[in-house]
Amino acid sequence: MAEKIKSYRFNVLEETLSQLNKEDCTIIAGGTDVMVMYKSRRGVPPKISKPIVFIDHLSELKQVYQNKNDLHIGACCTYSELLGNPLIPKELKKAIKTIAAPAIRNRGTLGGNVCNASPAGDTLPLLYVYNAKLLLRSVKGERIVAISDFIQGVRKVQREPNEILAEVILPSVLEEGAHVVFEKVGNRNADAIAKVGFAGYIRLNGDVIKDVRFAFGAVGPTMVRSVDIEKILIGKTIPLSDADITQVVAAFEKIIKPIDDQRSTALYRKTVALNLLRYFLSMKQYQIK
Ligand SMILES: Cc1cc2nc3c(=O)[nH]c(=O)nc-3n(C[C@H](O)[C@H](O)[C@H](O)COP(=O)(O)OP(=O)(O)OC[C@H]3O[C@@H](n4cnc5c(N)ncnc54)[C@H](O)[C@@H]3O)c2cc1C
Repeated sequence: MAEKIKSYRFNVLEETLSQLNKEDCTIIAGGTDVMVMYKSRRGVPPKISKPIVFIDHLSELKQVYQNKNDLHIGACCTYSELLGNPLIPKELKKAIKTIAAPAIRNRGTLGGNVCNASPAGDTLPLLYVYNAKLLLRSVKGERIVAISDFIQGVRKVQREPNEILAEVILPSVLEEGAHVVFEKVGNRNADAIAKVGFAGYIRLNGDVIKDVRFAFGAVGPTMVRSVDIEKILIGKTIPLSDADITQVVAAFEKIIKPIDDQRSTALYRKTVALNLLRYFLSMKQYQIK
């Protein structure tokens, strides 16, 4: 006989946080990762050892709003909700449209993608190049942490058991002169886990590169980003010379170390990742005056 699972579904965030402070629970937002992670054999409910706390209905975690130059996205907004929201940047919508199929997009949340910390999480390359910050809440108050500090490895995040991710904050979405690109390579355009994900961000003042960022997904235990390599291009003018492009690609060649698995080979992943970088660095879209 199936074992009973203790579960909580409070009406407000405060009560949820208070319960999390008393008892270590498994948080379920959309459940699209949790249910797979704990799945049992057919017909048998998932085996989750801790009590469950549902958070997907909490209105405090579902707001999207602009505060000065920052865009705040509630962690429990589903992908479908974000696709319908005019504040969400088009590249993030492009990434979301590649995730699973509509049924999963109706349940899966942005916060779940972050907290699941899969190397193939499709929103993560973009969140890294947006320099996303995460607002975590607990009974003790709130703290803000950079996404690159929060995610520490495969399914490993720096979250205290009593904390909930409340918001994903995108600080650089609305900057003037910024261009953002997202590309995913998988077996299909959507409903396929990424073999490689790539996001590029560039901010120009006239011809001069003021800021540039790159992040690669599914080619390492977590997103691959290197501020040191990015610095090579700051202050350069566009179009970039072949020598500059070659230097940056060669630098990433050394730090991108993918693995072979059922979805792809390491060699394919590395080749595609570097091609995407080269493509971004020589793109014409942001070079037209
Ligand atoms: C068929 C299928 C296809 C998929 N395809 C893709 C795909 O193409 N690309 C992709 O990136 N992903 C894909 N996924 C994975 C999944 O849908 C996403 O990662 C989704 O964003 C997870 O969100 P969720 O709300 O369902 O997370 P949940 O399953 O509810 O939670 C995931 C993890 O995050 C924790 N968590 C969730 N929300 C919070 C919060 N606010 N605060 C603290 N902890 C939290 C949970 O405890 C759990 O550890 C797929 C999943 C399935 C089942």
